[in-house]
Amino acid sequence: MQCPFCNDSDTRVIDSRLAGEGDSVRRRRECLTCKERFTTFETAELNLPRVIKSDGVREPFWEEKLNAGFLRALEKRPVESDAIDSAMSRIKKRLLSLGEREIPAMKIGELVMDELRNLDYVAYVRFASVYKSFEDINAFREVIDALEKNEKSDSITLNSVVGKQ
Ligand SMILES: [Zn+2]
Repeated sequence: MQCPFCNDSDTRVIDSRLAGEGDSVRRRRECLTCKERFTTFETAELNLPRVIKSDGVREPFWEEKLNAGFLRALEKRPVESDAIDSAMSRIKKRLLSLGEREIPAMKIGELVMDELRNLDYVAYVRFASVYKSFEDINAFREVIDALEKNEKSDSITLNSVVGKQ
């Protein structure tokens, strides 16, 4: 490993530990030439699949778009950041474990909805209504019906959920 300060290749590892959720290794290194210390992270290289849109166009996996959509659905909802992070990483792990090079956008939407359904029902409905774009109006109606049945005691009304779009 080359030293980022003097570019010498003579560096040694002085400390090594697991980082993140144990899926990466953090190494503290020291340059034998200039004595500067620096940190490196090692992770397995795994590529998320490309996304097949409904018109057949292939796009690079839109991680940021997915994160943004997920957070938008959960805006002002009583869900902990840790729970959100775990759900996001479960979605990515499931996508990686499929081992596919390409995956339909719809399949990704379904994985997201599975996670949101467990996290927060209102976020789930928000996401579902955007994701399905009301194309599948019957499915959306089922969701709304279920919401009205299950969350009667909740102060959030159907209008406030749908009105957020
Ligand atoms: Zn150096």
